[in-house]
Order: sequence, then structure tokens, then C-alpha cells
Amino acid sequence: MTDLDHRLTAEIEARRGDLIRLTQDLVSMPTLNPPGAGYREICDFLDSRLGAAGFRTELIRATGSPGDSDQYPRWNIVARREGAAPGDCVHFNSHTDVVAVGEGWTTDPFAAELKDGRIYGRGTCDMKGGLATSIVAAEAFLTVRPDFAGALEISGTADEETGGYGGVAYLAERGYFDPARVHHVIIPEPLNKDRICLGHRGVWWAEIETKGRIAHGSMPFLGDSAIRHMGAVLEEIERHLYPLLASKRTEMPVVPPGARQSTLNINAIHGGEPVQDADFTGFPAACVADRCTITIDRRFLIEEQIGDVKAEVAAMLEAIKAERPGFRYEIRDLWDVAPTMTDRDAPVVRTVAAAIERVLARAPDYVVSPGTYDQKHIDRIGRLKNCIAYGPGILDLAHQPDEWIGVDDMVDSAKVMALTLAELLAAA
Ligand SMILES: [Zn+2]
Repeated sequence: MTDLDHRLTAEIEARRGDLIRLTQDLVSMPTLNPPGAGYREICDFLDSRLGAAGFRTELIRATGSPGDSDQYPRWNIVARREGAAPGDCVHFNSHTDVVAVGEGWTTDPFAAELKDGRIYGRGTCDMKGGLATSIVAAEAFLTVRPDFAGALEISGTADEETGGYGGVAYLAERGYFDPARVHHVIIPEPLNKDRICLGHRGVWWAEIETKGRIAHGSMPFLGDSAIRHMGAVLEEIERHLYPLLASKRTEMPVVPPGARQSTLNINAIHGGEPVQDADFTGFPAACVADRCTITIDRRFLIEEQIGDVKAEVAAMLEAIKAERPGFRYEIRDLWDVAPTMTDRDAPVVRTVAAAIERVLARAPDYVVSPGTYDQKHIDRIGRLKNCIAYGPGILDLAHQPDEWIGVDDMVDSAKVMALTLAELLAAA
């Protein structure tokens, strides 16, 4: 470590208590999504914190985005601090929303209790701990290097847990991630302090409906069961599609390794009469099901094209149709996201890797996420490729009861981030 490295890491160590308190303050705000509560409050909090650190801040409401309403407005904050000379801009992006609490907690999910070096609560690891870490890293860096070159940005954005349309996508569409404005993006999602996440697999969701003909259930031969037709679809998925997907291996370093292939999940199935409310006390009617639907969640690889992924399912359905009398179906696209993977030689990857080696005295692991996160919008809408996820916390704890983040991990990650800033925003 250089002299500058030592000054930066000492500055981070001195802020350990502040980092804990900041994380606790953020976690104590229940920004649950859905419905998307408390975005304005957390943006106001970040506004005063970052304003005090010399950032120029903008609060942006994603008006008209999915879920945005007067009751639950989608507020985002973008804070920017200019350096003393021209240079690159480094941007830390964190989402401010958290998922539902769920069952099974032994601690208060919004009390942010500190116990044995861990802070417990909903959103500690995913990802308010990461947000706090990036803020403290930035503040420490600014204290040591007020004369830096370029610009430093920190954003807190809405709705990542529900697709990011009222958050990063909205900002990207308005130029906030334009490569002319921003050059390096780090998303402090909980991928562990020694791992660099380069990107994620692709996604395609679709609904498949089989069609039948209603008749009396005592004479099913007079109708045509959409559920039996769906049975044929499921059998085809089991017998042919799953083995085919398992044979498609990727060069992407996806973790866990089980996801280093194409996968398909059937999210939901429904056929026949609608499910009644729990308090309904009647019997179902005797009917042959005239429709049956499944929702599929297909995750695909950087080696695959979305067109081929869709064609594979279409071909399967056409093959069933050719063999099975009366088989009629419809397929509806719900949404899709292309896979993305930043190059290992990209400047932000190389710089963070070197900082990890200096702080933790070991080489980083390079990983790819099985599911998507906001990098998709930065890549596709912002057209900015120099983007990674890097932050403290254990990914497996995300969305779980008794979610926690380790204070030592946050401190180490803050050091890595501060050293990264010193490198990317070095004055000439
Ligand atoms: Zn997250």
C-alpha cells in the first residue's frame, strides 16, 4: 500500500462508528416495495447528508412510471460533486427500496440492531449497507483528496426490486448514465467484499395458454380439456426442453455454479375455474377446463440470442400441435432483458481488482449474477459498458429473515472503494 492508501484506510477506520450509524439510519426507514413507501423521506435524508459533504443534489420523481402515484411517488436522488480539474466521473448507484419483511424474524426488521459486529434488519445487506459504505468511502476520499480531478456521483434510486423502471431505467432514459457524463459505475449490491460482479444472465418471461372447450364434467368426452393439453406441454418441457437447456453451458462465471447453464422455471400454473377467496364455502362446478396458463421464466446466456430462445419454445409448441389433435395455444411475451457482462479489462474492473488486492491481500473472484439487477438499464438504455456490481454483504442473505451485514466487511469494502476513487480521480 502506498502512503495515500494508508491515509485513506486510516480515514475509513476513523469513520467506523459513523458508518454503523448511517446504515442504521437508512435501515430504520421502511422503504418497502411494493408498494414503494418512504422514497421521499430517504431521498430527503440523503439530500441533507450529501449536501453537507459538498454535493449538488437533484431529486427526481419518476412521474408516470409503474406504481408512481401521489400516495407512492417514485423519488430518486442524484448527487454530484465536481473536482478541481476535468477528468472522469465515477458513479455509485444504490437502490433504496427493500422487499417485504416476511415471516421468521427474531429481531425487529427496522430496528437495525448491532450485535456481535453485525447489523440486523431488512435491507441491511440488500443494499442499504452498500449505500452507506459508498457514502462513507466518498466522504473519506473527499477529505483526503479535496483537489481531485473529474467528478463523483452518488445516486439512490427507486424500484430495483420490481424492475427498476421508476429508478435507474427512468434516469438512464434521461441521460443520467450517458457515457458523455458518467464513465465508471459501481453498484454496491451485496456480492461480497472480495468479488467483482461483471453482469448477469438474460431473462425472458412469457405466458403460455392452452385452449379447450367447456362441457359438463360428468361427460368430459363432450368437451376438450385445456389442462390435459397443458399436461402435454409440461411433459415436453420435462422430456426434451430441460435436457436441452442443461446441455447449454456458459463461459460466464455465474454463481452459484448451478446457474452456469440455461434454466427455466415455471412460475405459476392455472387452469379451469378461478380460485375462490379463502372465505368462500361453496363447491366448485363440474366443468371441463377451457383454458390453462403457465408463466415461464427462462434465464439465458451471453452465448444465446433472445430470438433463438423464443424460437425454441415456439418450435416445441408447434411440434405438439402437429401430433396432438385439438391442440391450440397462445403465447404472450411478458418482458425480457438481454444478458450483460462487462469486460475483465474494463477500467473500473481493473481498478477495483487492484484495490481489492491492496486492501485484502488477495486477488478478487470474478462472478456473474444468475438474476438481473439495475446494470441492465445502464447497459441497454445508458449504453455504458464500464459498470460492475461491487459491495459488502452476503448475497444469500438478501430477502431472508434476520438479514444482516457485517461491520468489518463494510469497512473493508469502503477502503476498496476509497482506493478506487483515488485511482480513477487522480489529479494529473
Ligand atoms: Zn439489491
